Amino acid sequence: MSPAGAAPTANLPGSHDVDLEFSEADIQRYARHILLAEVGGTGQAKLRAARVLIVGAGGLGAPLLLYLAAAGVGTLGIVDNDTVALSNLQRQIAHSTDRVGQPKAASAAIAAAAINPGVALHPHAVRLSGANALALLADYDIVCDGTDNFAARYLLADACHLAGKTLISAAVLRFEGQLSVFRPAGRGTPCYRCLYPEAPPAGLVPSCGEAGVLGAVTGVMGTLQATEVLKEILGIGEALAGRLLLWDALATRFRVITLRRDPGCALCGDVPAIHDLSAHE
Ligand SMILES: [Zn+2]
Repeated sequence: MSPAGAAPTANLPGSHDVDLEFSEADIQRYARHILLAEVGGTGQAKLRAARVLIVGAGGLGAPLLLYLAAAGVGTLGIVDNDTVALSNLQRQIAHSTDRVGQPKAASAAIAAAAINPGVALHPHAVRLSGANALALLADYDIVCDGTDNFAARYLLADACHLAGKTLISAAVLRFEGQLSVFRPAGRGTPCYRCLYPEAPPAGLVPSCGEAGVLGAVTGVMGTLQATEVLKEILGIGEALAGRLLLWDALATRFRVITLRRDPGCALCGDVPAIHDLSAHE
């Protein structure tokens, strides 16, 4: 393959040596990527070598998983202990009417495999917990938060920081979405807790299940999240680490605000108070 687009290697912890051999079918499958100078054969090989964990196979996780599988990200893990419900199908496009009642992780894997049988899919039909989070994260380079509750968001933020994994976090509610990238400690960029130090009191911020969400809004945010995953793997463009994207769909307005690391942060600050996941047990 041509080394065109040999962009600076993504700073993935545990970055892999890439194999540039592709089958004729894969060269056709990824032709529109390989045409891009920023991707090329080398970038496509980096995508194949990458391992991404998606937590939540819902409104964000579904488009995220489908685009990463289509893009040829070689290993994809899906964590979700829920089953597909009829009320999910308005936005969770990896599931289908005939799979209502089936485990979501397996249902999402079926949809991803139908698009690209060449990627390794690992459905984990478990609930993320303080006890299993670090073991689940260990096999992956990048972790995506597609969860719908604060307990899981803070657990993932803490676990990714402690495990040195890049966290790509998206959230949606009603007609709005937000997205950011949190790099491991020591890279000078803020963590999730620099932005939101503590979870809001229970009941203060409604969930999508309580307040609703426009289905297409989850699709846009999950697809933006997929784009940031691909940028991180390829090491191209301007990273979203240290910045927060806010989208108001009703106003059709995107804003990007700069985030600063908080030296007093309980997780990544100069004197951190959080050293393990015991608070999440
Ligand atoms: Zn922090």
